[in-house]
Amino acid sequence: MAELPEIFLLAEQMKKTLLGKTIQSVTLLQEKCINLPPHEFQERATGAKIEDVRYKGKWIITKLNNGENILLSLGMGADVFYFDNIKNQAGKFQVRVVFSDGTGYTIRFWWFGRFFLVSDGELESEPNTKEIGIDPYDERFTPEYFSSLLKGKKTQVKAFLLNQKNVSGIGNMYMHDILFKARLHPQKKISELNDDDIRRLYESIMYILNLSREKGAFGYEKDFFGRKGGYTLDQFLVGYKENQPCPVCGEKIALIKTGSTSSYICPACQKL
Ligand SMILES: [Zn+2]
Repeated sequence: MAELPEIFLLAEQMKKTLLGKTIQSVTLLQEKCINLPPHEFQERATGAKIEDVRYKGKWIITKLNNGENILLSLGMGADVFYFDNIKNQAGKFQVRVVFSDGTGYTIRFWWFGRFFLVSDGELESEPNTKEIGIDPYDERFTPEYFSSLLKGKKTQVKAFLLNQKNVSGIGNMYMHDILFKARLHPQKKISELNDDDIRRLYESIMYILNLSREKGAFGYEKDFFGRKGGYTLDQFLVGYKENQPCPVCGEKIALIKTGSTSSYICPACQKL
C-alpha cells in the first residue's frame, strides 16, 4: 500500500515527465473509480496541458491549464506506468491517458482506487482532500509543530498518526517501525507521552520515512517507470517479522491486534 515515500516519488516522477504535455484522450474503463460520467470527464480533460503535479497526503493532484485538476488515489495500491509509445503500454489497466506526443500512462488499481476530475473552484472544498493534515516531508512539519499537534490529545498514538487529518501520509506499513524505533506501544495514550517520548517519535517518523525515500520507496511496489523501490523487508526492524528476535533486545517480535489494525511490536521494548 502506497504511503508517503511512494506517493512523493510517484508525484515527482509524474511532474518531471508529464509537465507541458497535452492530453489527447482519456480512457476510463471502470466507472466506479471516477466522479463524473465518462464522457463529461473526457470532454473537460481533453486538450488541456499538464501544468503541475503535486501530492496532498495520499492523493496525487495533476493541475491542468484549463482550470481542471485530476485527483488520483491509489487505494490499496496501483500500478501507474508511463509509456513512451502506445505499443509499450501495460497490458491491463482501468485508466489510460494519452498525450498528443504519443506518450501516456496507464493505471491498474489492485483493489479499488479513485480518479476524479475537479475544477479549481471545487478543489478547496473537495471532501476527500480538504482536511488532510501536513505531511512529514513538508518543511512546516517541525518538532515544535509536531509537539503542538499532540498537545491536549487523549487518543492512542497509533490511531492518532493514522488519522490523515492529523498527519498525512503514514499508513500501517511504516507505522510498525516508527513506533518500535520510538519505543512506544501503539496503544499508548498521547496524554501519557512526555517531552522525550514526543521527541523520539518525531525523530523516528522522520528517520523511517526519509530512509525509504532515499532508497526509492517500498521494494514491492513499482514506480512510474516500472522500477522497484529499494526499501525491502530487510530494512524493516520489527514490521512483518513475527516471532523473529527484536534487533535491540532479542525478545520475540509479536503481532498484536490494535483496534482495527494489527501491529508488530517488541513486547519488551514497547511496553504499554
Ligand atoms: Zn526489544
